[in-house]
Amino acid sequence: MLSVKEAQEQINSHFKPVETTFVPLDQSAGRILTEALCASADQPAFDNSSVDGFAIRVQDILSASQNNPVSLRVVADIPAGSMAQISLAAGQAARIMTGAATPPGADAIVMMEDTDANQQVSGANAPANVNVFKSGLSGQNIRRRAADISIGQEILPAGVILRPQDIGMLAMLGVSRVAVRRKPKIVIVSGGNELLQPGAPLEPGKIYDSNSYTLAALAANSGCEARRLGVALDSYEAVHNLLAQAAEAQPDLIISSAGVSVGAFDYVRDVVESDGNIDFWKVNMRPGKPLAFGSFRDIPFFGLPGNPVSSFVSFLLFVQPALERLLGLESGQKKRLRVTLMDAIESDGRESYLRAIIKLENGKYLATLTGHQGSGNLYSLVQANALLIIPSGVKSCPPGSEVEAWSLENN
Ligand code: AMP
Ligand code: MG
Repeated sequence: MLSVKEAQEQINSHFKPVETTFVPLDQSAGRILTEALCASADQPAFDNSSVDGFAIRVQDILSASQNNPVSLRVVADIPAGSMAQISLAAGQAARIMTGAATPPGADAIVMMEDTDANQQVSGANAPANVNVFKSGLSGQNIRRRAADISIGQEILPAGVILRPQDIGMLAMLGVSRVAVRRKPKIVIVSGGNELLQPGAPLEPGKIYDSNSYTLAALAANSGCEARRLGVALDSYEAVHNLLAQAAEAQPDLIISSAGVSVGAFDYVRDVVESDGNIDFWKVNMRPGKPLAFGSFRDIPFFGLPGNPVSSFVSFLLFVQPALERLLGLESGQKKRLRVTLMDAIESDGRESYLRAIIKLENGKYLATLTGHQGSGNLYSLVQANALLIIPSGVKSCPPGSEVEAWSLENN
């Protein structure tokens, strides 16, 4: 039997990043930037005012105070978006709004509130003269050109996942299209005579196909374009037809669940081997021991176990790292938390992933299992916010012992 780590390493060696594509900026949230982005202009691009007020010459207002204001002649009005046509001379001021370019000759801006023009109604013309009640320092309230960013500076390195603030930054720099990793295309198939689609009336002995929904959502959350293709009945032809249809969509990856163990009607291995190759592994883990990996018509193929919790855990352990490689992300090991068990845990010595609720109390995570750990009990996964990891070889953990856990916050 392979260890989890051995299986992961073998799988990962088959994946490399898919190509770059260009998307409009407003469709780039959450996408992975594939080219470092450098500023094509200084930011700010020009000296501008950080307040509504008056552009002045500091020399002129050195003596200004509340009781002894300095009167200046207002020679220009500079709303945001326009450039002053004049240069300030001694004794002159220009009314200026936040974000407007500072006029030549001015070396500081006094705030509206420090002048007698602070009661103006919206739309009022600039006054002919303004009294300034406070002296000022050179440069005050001026946002200097290139204070934030200089032209040519690297703003975002390749490989970052674009966040709202990154997207705003790109817009600020005038970028309208970004180079991002193409979303890997994933096709998901299910198999089993017992499976019905949600929405259809339930029939005796049947269940709804839940795996393809879980897996499609997991793939989409990982940044892929996921498509569910439906269910194959338990026959060689049906499985072959569905996989052939999956291959025709030319995805980057095919994921199937069920039909890979040793049941009398498990055809997936035979079908994949007829048109590709497959490694069938028993991985030393619980839940989810059987795992098939290979390729069908040259498309990488995962055969995950059928039980809903097993297919979920197998996805996190084996498919997710493969998707990260397709996306060109550092195949980062998931962050592990140390948690203290509230329950006793017995294990059969396989590396085990147990559903639990963890909560922070006095700086420590305390973990409680969410009901029975049968691999069909999806509800216990719904209730969980973490998977506890019991390492291989460990057979019992008493209450109070510490183990590692994955948070399910992002899954
Ligand atoms: P199998 O691997 O085909 O033996 O399936 C193992 C278990 O998983 C059986 O109880 C199946 O009914 C169940 N199962 C298989 N496929 C699905 C699916 N798509 N959704 C929910 N349960 C499934
Ligand atoms: Mg089956």
